[in-house]
Amino acid sequence: MNDELIYLDNNATTRVHPEVCAAMEPFLAGDLYGNPSAGYRFGKQAKQALEQARQQVASLLEAQAEEIVFTSCGTESNHTAIESALRCFPERRHLVITAGEHSAVENPCAVLESRGYRVTRLGLDEQGLIDLEELESVVDSDDTALVSLIWANNETGVLTPIEEAARIVKEKGVLFHSDAVQAVGKLPVSLADCAVSMLSLSGHKLHATKGVGVLYVNRHIRFEPCLLGGGQEGGRRSGTENVAGIAGLGHATGLLQSALAKENHQQHLSRLRDCFEQTVISRVGNVLVNGHCEKRLPNTSNLCFEGVDAEGLLILLDNAGICCSPGSACSTGLVKPSRVLTAMGLSSARARSSVRFSVSMFTTEAEIDRAVDAVEQAILKLRVVLPSNGASVVRNT
Ligand code: PLP
Repeated sequence: MNDELIYLDNNATTRVHPEVCAAMEPFLAGDLYGNPSAGYRFGKQAKQALEQARQQVASLLEAQAEEIVFTSCGTESNHTAIESALRCFPERRHLVITAGEHSAVENPCAVLESRGYRVTRLGLDEQGLIDLEELESVVDSDDTALVSLIWANNETGVLTPIEEAARIVKEKGVLFHSDAVQAVGKLPVSLADCAVSMLSLSGHKLHATKGVGVLYVNRHIRFEPCLLGGGQEGGRRSGTENVAGIAGLGHATGLLQSALAKENHQQHLSRLRDCFEQTVISRVGNVLVNGHCEKRLPNTSNLCFEGVDAEGLLILLDNAGICCSPGSACSTGLVKPSRVLTAMGLSSARARSSVRFSVSMFTTEAEIDRAVDAVEQAILKLRVVLPSNGASVVRNT
């Protein structure tokens, strides 16, 4: 374990909460290894853990336990929502998403497009926001099988007005799914008065483990499963459940529910994020915030360091023990600017100079202070500041 490590990449994954580990332990190292589908008492103990977790997740979302389907991850939940909608409405050939979806929605939709489906991607403005009038104008009651909008963007943290969007889509008689993988656990996400038909979340983004996710399926909608087999999860997702992971997810959602109810969780996240962001901006200079400053997750800061190559910055920060993510992805030797930042109309240069920092409940003030110092030192190394106008260039070292 690296004592020097400062983990500011909590939108990528989160540390498993020690209480979550304790809640999982009886199903991993302990005696409770029974199959939850088995009819004898030993199996029923595992089944009971599943049902308790289902209740805990439902309670966090203000949903009904019967509406919670356990899956293996956020990606599976997203795929299932899309596939189910297409199977329920085979005559419909149109999907609506945003231009800023995670690849777990964008990529399956791109494949469907190559097979002849029509996919409308709602545009993002410079702040990363969608236009609800555009949404209303593109949904076709006869042809749209599903509208799927990301609740909170994983790169910028910018929020979609899901309640309003879901109302518009419901009035058109079309199914509505939201990828809420980044939102759940960082903000109150209530489905009590929300016209969402399906919603995805993922355990490892909220201090549970990797390999467990949820698809919320509103009890009044039509649904067709993707995985067929033993009929687990009420026939909606066959496959023996990851009992330990699910017990951990249930516990994590319980912890987050109490933290969110007291509002100190969001406050802790936004206080540290704002402190980081404001201090970096004032000490480093020529730093821009990507995305709407208010309408975003409390834990996410996506910053453009003008004139700096983010790849170089990430290397220096990694050497200093800081984990964060670039605004561009390197594939087959080419640095591709972020699809999300580009969709917001930001230049490739700006995307290539952008880095995402994301805090969690475990981030401390001392870590933020050290991270700010490390960012400042790295930027000093990478930039030659021209005194006349404050503009800067990259020193190619
Ligand atoms: N959706 C969003 C918005 C995400 O940020 C992620 C993960 O980064 C996913 C979906 C995929 O979740 P998982 O890693 O559980 O498959």
